[in-house]
Parts: sequence; C-alpha cells; structure tokens
Amino acid sequence: MTVSAATPTTKSRVLIAGATGFIGQFVASASLDSGRQTYVLVRPGLAGCPSKSKVLKSLHDKGAIILHGSISDRENMAKILKDHEIDIVISAVGGANVLDQIGLVEAIKAVGTIKRFLPSEFGHDVVRAVPVEPGEQMYKDKRVIRQLIEEYSIPYNYICCNSIASWPYYDNKHPANVLPPLDHFKIYGDGTVKAYFVAGTDIGKFTMKIVDDVRAINKSVHFRPSCNFYNMNELASLWEKKIGRTLPRITVTEQDLLAIAAENIIPESIVASFTHDIFIKGCQSNFSINGPDDIEVGTLYPDEAFRTVDECFNDFALELKDKAMDLGSKGNATPNHAVESMALSAPC
Ligand code: NDP
Repeated sequence: MTVSAATPTTKSRVLIAGATGFIGQFVASASLDSGRQTYVLVRPGLAGCPSKSKVLKSLHDKGAIILHGSISDRENMAKILKDHEIDIVISAVGGANVLDQIGLVEAIKAVGTIKRFLPSEFGHDVVRAVPVEPGEQMYKDKRVIRQLIEEYSIPYNYICCNSIASWPYYDNKHPANVLPPLDHFKIYGDGTVKAYFVAGTDIGKFTMKIVDDVRAINKSVHFRPSCNFYNMNELASLWEKKIGRTLPRITVTEQDLLAIAAENIIPESIVASFTHDIFIKGCQSNFSINGPDDIEVGTLYPDEAFRTVDECFNDFALELKDKAMDLGSKGNATPNHAVESMALSAPC
C-alpha cells in the first residue's frame, strides 16, 4: 500500500496552549474536528472571564482534555508532555507572552519526543517583515523563540497566515470580533496596497493539516489564497455591496499611522505599526516564496478551498441584520440604524 506524503499514519496527540485566545480557539476546534486527542493548557484565573470560560466549556464538550499550568513553567511542562505522551505542541499565546515560550521550548528539548512544535506566530514572516516599533518588539521576541527551536533541532512549523478575514481596523488586535464600518471607512494611504485575508476557521483547519504533513517539516508555511487578495478600496466596495449603500472614505496617511505607533499605547500602537507595514509597505507580498525553508499552503493542498472574504462579509452582514432587528424589537433603533463597529462578542 502506498501512503501519500501528506497522510499521517496515526492520529497524533496534540497539546495546545492559548486555546481560549482568539487564534487558539480556532486551532483547538480544528484539532478536535480532525479527531485528534486534544489537550488544552489553561492558566489559573479563568473564572473571572466569562467569555473564556465559555470557550473552554465548548472545547471540553467537544472532547478536549483540560490541563492546568503555564508554558513558562519548564518542569511542569516537561511532566505534562511525558505523562500524556504528547506528539505535537501548538502555542497560540498572545503577543505579550511570546517569551513565556522559552520554558516550553526547554521542556520540549528535555523530553525529546515531540514530533512537531508550532510556536505562537500566526501572522507575518517575522524574519522578513520589519514593522516600526512597538510592533517590531513582538517580532524580536518571536525571532528569539525561532532561534532557540532551531538551535535545539526541534521539528517545527512557522505559520505565516497573514491577516484575519475582517475589516482591518488599525487599533483593534482582534478585528474579526467587530463588524466592518457602518458610518465611514478609514483608508490607509491610497488604499491600493494588497493583503491576504484568511478566515479564522481556515487558520485552524490548515494548521491541523500541516502539523503532521512530512512535506512541511521545518518550514515556514505561508497562507496566500489568491481569492482573498484585496486592497482597502476593494474591501470597502465589497462591504458596501453587502450593506447596500456607500460610505464616506477618510484617508489615514502613512504619517498618521506612524504617529499612532509612536504614541506607544499597547496594544493599539502595535496594531498601528502592523497596519503601516501591511497597507503602506506591502509586507505580505513584497517577497516571493521560493526558498528551501518556505512553502505555500495552497501548493500542499490544492484541492482544499479557502473561505472567501465575500463569504465572511456575508456572515458580518447577517450578524448586522440580526443585531439591528434585535435593537429594533427593543425600540432602540430601526433595523437600518448605523452603529459604529458593533462588537460581535465581548472579550475580557
Ligand atoms: P490572545 O491574547 O487572544 O490569547 C492568548 C492566549 O494565550 C490566552 O488563552 C492566554 O491564557 C494564553 N496564555 C498566555 N500566556 C500563557 C502562558 N504563559 N501559559 C499558558 N497560556 C498562556 O492571543 P491572540 O490570539 O491574539 O494571539 C495569538 C497569536 O496570534 C500571537 O502570536 C499573535 O501575534 C497572533 N495573532 C495574529 C492575528 C492575525 O490577524 N493574523 C490576529 C491576532 C493575533 P489566559 O486566559 O490565561 O490569559
């Protein structure tokens, strides 16, 4: 019998850190959907955050096994990896906790049985992109983790999934949690620089395909779905079609973004520096993927479709309709009432 290069022979056991976070919940869900034994690592103190407790309950209901600890605790992490015979470790800790991963990397090295480690990346290729500060500090931290992984010869993947499919607000680190604009668009520069947009569910789905695909070992995996390559002007027009009206467009210049970044308000200034890098400098597409350490996810799985931005915007439009109906039924507004950046969920 021939086994394709992409086909894992056994279902691996996966540990996910950061599963209650924005990116981590997509990855944990996809891991469970793939039928893998999925362990999620949780720090104490979740009780104070109802939205995270809800995510955790839903992962538990789907079959996740909850473990407690912090990735910065090397001894506990080594014990967890050994006791549960973990094969694959995925970290999706937030930008402020990237260096906590040093404890986890040390534990992975000590145990010596981990078949693949995916550190918390899930954005740009941090050795190529150089945003202004304070954004670059996060990349410097991610580079430290990459260096350690490679020094210890730990098998890895770096997921470079580019932007989340949503309106790219310059001051919101989780823009998919809010609706696209309803009163005016803020367009960065001349609005012509393109970026790749990927639905959270696809970040999860493709990550879980990559984790035991032998063709991807020790590579940066780039997500560049050609169907989701949009500039700001195109994105604005697409949303206008969904809501059936046009909105004024206000230019946010390069200098504006640099000034917001320079204010050093965390996390907004970090998001502004990434926004500058993406929509002014073109950091997602100003290099080609042809090195031996790079692979594009579409070349690995040519038959697997990505959710389109069009479909994601349909979801936002439906959400808007539901919320407007809800407000209308409470006598607060008419169903067409415009509410700026309505939150879709309440993060802690
Ligand atoms: P969040 O801040 O939403 O969530 C972070 C998660 O990590 C939480 O579950 C948190 O748990 C957990 N965590 C933090 N520190 C530790 C620790 N020491 N031990 C165990 N768990 C810990 O993160 P994001 O989803 O925003 O970020 C994840 C990655 O994705 C980052 O690398 C970020 O740069 C990237 N990203 C990419 C985006 C894109 O558009 N491509 C968008 C957003 C993020 P607790 O509840 O205990 O705090």
